[in-house]
Amino acid sequence: MQLIDGKKISIQIQEQIALEVKQMLLAGKKQPHLAAVLVGNDGGSETYVANKIKTCEKVGFKSTLIRHPEYVTEEKLLQTVIDLNNNNDVDGFIVQLPLPRHINEQKVLETILPSKDVDGFHPINVGRMVLNLPCYVSATPYGIVQLLEKYNIQTSGKNCVVIGRSHIVGSPMSILMAKNTSLGNCTVTLCHSKTENLINHTKQADIIICALGSPEFLKADMVKEGVVVIDVGTTRVESTSAKNGFVLKGDVKFDEVAPKCSFITPVPGGVGPMTIASLLKNTLLAAKKEIYS
Ligand code: NAP
Repeated sequence: MQLIDGKKISIQIQEQIALEVKQMLLAGKKQPHLAAVLVGNDGGSETYVANKIKTCEKVGFKSTLIRHPEYVTEEKLLQTVIDLNNNNDVDGFIVQLPLPRHINEQKVLETILPSKDVDGFHPINVGRMVLNLPCYVSATPYGIVQLLEKYNIQTSGKNCVVIGRSHIVGSPMSILMAKNTSLGNCTVTLCHSKTENLINHTKQADIIICALGSPEFLKADMVKEGVVVIDVGTTRVESTSAKNGFVLKGDVKFDEVAPKCSFITPVPGGVGPMTIASLLKNTLLAAKKEIYS
């Protein structure tokens, strides 16, 4: 069994980006600039955004955090998005999800200019991804693709089961794995909460991507020997022994599944760090105007 070290790969990507930023600055170009919009005080969102800002600084990007209280109106949030669209110094920006229930999340995402949508959630970027056209691929699926590539994991002709069909992880992941590209060419089964006899699918799988948010869902008796397992799940589970009162649990019962795997990602230290690295990669592409000129 080989552990897929997302933290290590993420640091390598950050080092490459930092080098490129230095060269851009030496060539008299402007510093890449990522902005993040955070609504409310959700603990998870605060941590994710703080990590994104910290990593931006590490690679030499400029970063801006715009905060709104939980009760911000949709109109005011949309105006923030429009201002960021019109701000020529900002190359790309994200609106951290989830948003409060009184705000139409889709409307907000569709207001972001596709050329600045470095999270890759705008329908234009999603559509371009499906059509295999240049686009920003959403950060978590993009990070997983890079992990599979770095570890030379063969995907062509393999059976891939994706568990979870969200717009931000499972659904784009299933499309990427099925594409007629060097990484892809899998026969993909997309499972969700209505899937019957899910175990019949997982037991046939050469590659399983778990993105359902149910701690330790995938057990040893659900997988075959030699399977590749990518665990996207990150659920905060209360723990009296942890300093901050919780531990992060993946969707895979790691201790019992890992011995059957050829490759597996840990939680934490697997997919999570790659999500941030991919967001930075998208921002660099935005700064270089490589996708939308
Ligand atoms: P989500 O929007 O809640 O979607 C969960 C999906 O899982 C849904 O499609 C749901 O099916 C399916 N599902 C739920 N229970 C199931 C079951 N028992 N059997 C089969 N399918 C089931 O979640 P998400 O945003 O995709 O996130 C999934 C997990 O990944 C969460 O733990 C999240 O924190 C984590 N995540 C991690 C990163 C990272 O960077 N590491 C990034 C994003 C998300 P239905 O569609 O039928 O409801």
